[in-house]
Amino acid sequence: QPAIRIDNLLKRYGAKDGDGGGKLALKGVSFDVPQGGIFGLLGPNGAGKSTLINILAGLVDKTDGSAEIWGFDIDRNRRNAKRSIGIVPQEIVFDPFFTPFEVLENQAGFYGIPKAERRSEELLEAVRLSDKRDAYARTLSGGMKRRLLIAKAMVHSPPILVLDEPTAGVDVELRRQLWELVTELNEQGVTIVLTTHYLEEAEELCERIAIINHGELIANKPTRELIGMA
Ligand code: ADP
Ligand code: ADP
Repeated sequence: QPAIRIDNLLKRYGAKDGDGGGKLALKGVSFDVPQGGIFGLLGPNGAGKSTLINILAGLVDKTDGSAEIWGFDIDRNRRNAKRSIGIVPQEIVFDPFFTPFEVLENQAGFYGIPKAERRSEELLEAVRLSDKRDAYARTLSGGMKRRLLIAKAMVHSPPILVLDEPTAGVDVELRRQLWELVTELNEQGVTIVLTTHYLEEAEELCERIAIINHGELIANKPTRELIGMA
């Protein structure tokens, strides 16, 4: 069973969604994400990457097609599907007066995880924020905030972690740090999916790359073969 199965996914934004009313953002996209690896979803701005991620996250309704996360259909088994995935969004959204520890505890509460089973300390250590446990989020650097976002997405111990453009607009050093963290999580058994518009990032990190452009899948290959094509 694949980690994620995407079958003929179609998204037409309605007039009520704003600027791109009637716009076909996904034109029947199908692919599987195998378990255990780092999978790259590559494409230029506007290709449909965020739309796809947001559908998996349950934040955007699809127009047609289907998807399964860890074997759970996103419509018929929405709750289990959502519990099987952790999403690291592009935008950093924390209450500035919450501490990293509180951010993780609140998220655990949101998932109904009993106090004894929470792993906030462990997660802070994994993203190297133990020393910032009780600092206000507003005092954290951009890199620390991004690492906290990753910890927040792992609170419910999902088998799959999806990162939406994790390194967009970050400097070289922070990019390296985030790559290292993603690789570590993968080595611990988490299936990783990341969207990016940097080919070099996908090449460096991912063993398999799917490319979408204008809402269509134009390639889905092991990285080695893809590079060989270029
Ligand atoms: P990417 O993440 O690859 O940059 P998106 O999924 O954000 O691409 O966007 C795909 C297309 O859908 C773009 O043409 C974008 O303008 C359009 N789009 C995205 N979100 C909305 C929305 N809420 N309403 C209308 N059109 C949208
Ligand atoms: P629900 O639909 O179950 O009410 P929401 O989508 O409204 O859940 O999410 C509530 C909060 O939990 C938000 O802060 C959201 O960002 C976060 N959240 C929900 N699902 C995930 C996930 N899979 N990974 C990370 N954060 C999530």
